[in-house]
Amino acid sequence: MIMADTKGSVNTTTLLDSLPTGLFIGGQWREASSGESFEVCNPATGEVLATLSSANSDDAVAALDAAAKVQKEWARTSARERSEILTRAYQLVTERSEEFATLMTLEMGKPLAEARGEVKYGAEYLRWFAEETVRQYGHTQEVPEGGIRMVTRRKPVGPCLLITPWNFPLAMATRKVGPAVAAGCTMVLKPAELTPLTTQYFAQTMVEAGLPAGVLNVVCGTDPAAISEPLIADPRLRKVSFTGSTTVGKILMKQAADSVLRTSMELGGNAPFIVFEDADIDQAVAGAMAAKMRNIGEACTAANRFLIHSEVVEEFTEKLVTAMEALTVGNGMDDGVDVGPLIEEKARKNVASLVDDAKGNGAEVLTGGNAIDGDGFFFQPTVLRGASTDSRIFQEEIFGPVASIYEFTDEDEAIELANSTPYGLASYVFSEDPDRLWRLADGLEFGIVGYNAGVVSNAAVPFGGVKHSGLGREGGAEGIDEYTEVQYIGVRDPYANK
Ligand code: NAD
Repeated sequence: MIMADTKGSVNTTTLLDSLPTGLFIGGQWREASSGESFEVCNPATGEVLATLSSANSDDAVAALDAAAKVQKEWARTSARERSEILTRAYQLVTERSEEFATLMTLEMGKPLAEARGEVKYGAEYLRWFAEETVRQYGHTQEVPEGGIRMVTRRKPVGPCLLITPWNFPLAMATRKVGPAVAAGCTMVLKPAELTPLTTQYFAQTMVEAGLPAGVLNVVCGTDPAAISEPLIADPRLRKVSFTGSTTVGKILMKQAADSVLRTSMELGGNAPFIVFEDADIDQAVAGAMAAKMRNIGEACTAANRFLIHSEVVEEFTEKLVTAMEALTVGNGMDDGVDVGPLIEEKARKNVASLVDDAKGNGAEVLTGGNAIDGDGFFFQPTVLRGASTDSRIFQEEIFGPVASIYEFTDEDEAIELANSTPYGLASYVFSEDPDRLWRLADGLEFGIVGYNAGVVSNAAVPFGGVKHSGLGREGGAEGIDEYTEVQYIGVRDPYANK
């Protein structure tokens, strides 16, 4: 067990000891049917934080049984009732900000200040969807030929499987649970096995907010496919919402095809960060640092490819290297740390192999470039320049603290380079020419365009990608649509010919 530690304002031993270690099914915490368990470790130190029950297929089906059993009753609750549960959940998560932030830093590695930022960001999805719950509109219209008056209404899709990744343990859960509660859906939530502790605490918090038994069920285990496969094949499940890698998203979409299951897919990214010759370079560097280094570079929106106009590439590069060299790498629980560890050794090896491949494909290492010896999975903040566009670092998601710089000479070339991977989630454009925004927005095949802004995520915006970055939107007015079916009711016009 981790040593007593009161960094931040939370006693970590007390917090970890208070967490449930079982599966949450039908309003009860229970042991896995196999009796098996798995350890959750701190990526900064390797210490074991907790040992949790490991769910198998039987446990997953038991969780769906619980969700299916209460779906009808839950769908009939009033919008106001569901809205008030989400409001209380928002308040409780906010009151417990230090506890949530501490858990995320311990299990995921991000610096405590960033974890606090995620609590605020994640809680906002609960508040936003509390507000959206009571604003689910249909419409009414007479069909053009007359004879039928039509009414549309929204109904919950039904029991949902929600699968979340390890990089934003709270926000990725609230972004799905918030709209599912708002719409009146019941849920089986499967967090990532690397960071399940935040979800355990979140489930406890939802119960205290008044969520009835069976509406939210949480199962996590070391074999995620054993959990998801039987549920996706089960006709009682009506939707799968997945955030994670494109590789796993494709597997789930193939499985979902057999059941013609509704899917929302928030998948990988490979964001271009484009700086034009008329940009404010200091503002662009500040935006680059936020877009690249937030979450240790482990974000689907992370800037991956820095496409810089040749007239400003020297100035931008020099300032970016200076900013990267000023960062402090270390345990996210320590004061003054900007960059925590990567999530696991496999992730660090992948980042190192991308850097090696880039070096073999023409890149010069301007700073960093190596793993850091000692405990934890630390990697130096790194800037590369000159890798070829067919190098892996251009084509693949980096998911680490590595910025790779490329040059372009005109707008069309920038757009072509930006679009030249299978991904289409976030993109960033820095320029002082307002007309350029609209030309770029037309040309860029991305679900999100940040203009002179390095961080654009917010509960109020429709977040999602195109191409291999996924399907559907989370957050915004659109987020709730993913959890509702539109039903059309055709009513005979009383004045129509009989
Ligand atoms: P991952 O695909 O390995 O895992 C995501 C989730 O899927 C985890 O809960 C995992 O247990 C589960 N999983 C893994 N294999 C599975 C299988 N065969 N069947 C069913 N479930 C399975 O991804 P990750 O490494 O946890 O997360 C990083 C990825 O997530 C990156 O590609 C990142 O870009 C993406 N991501 C996307 C968004 C977005 O909104 N688009 C947000 C955050 C992360």
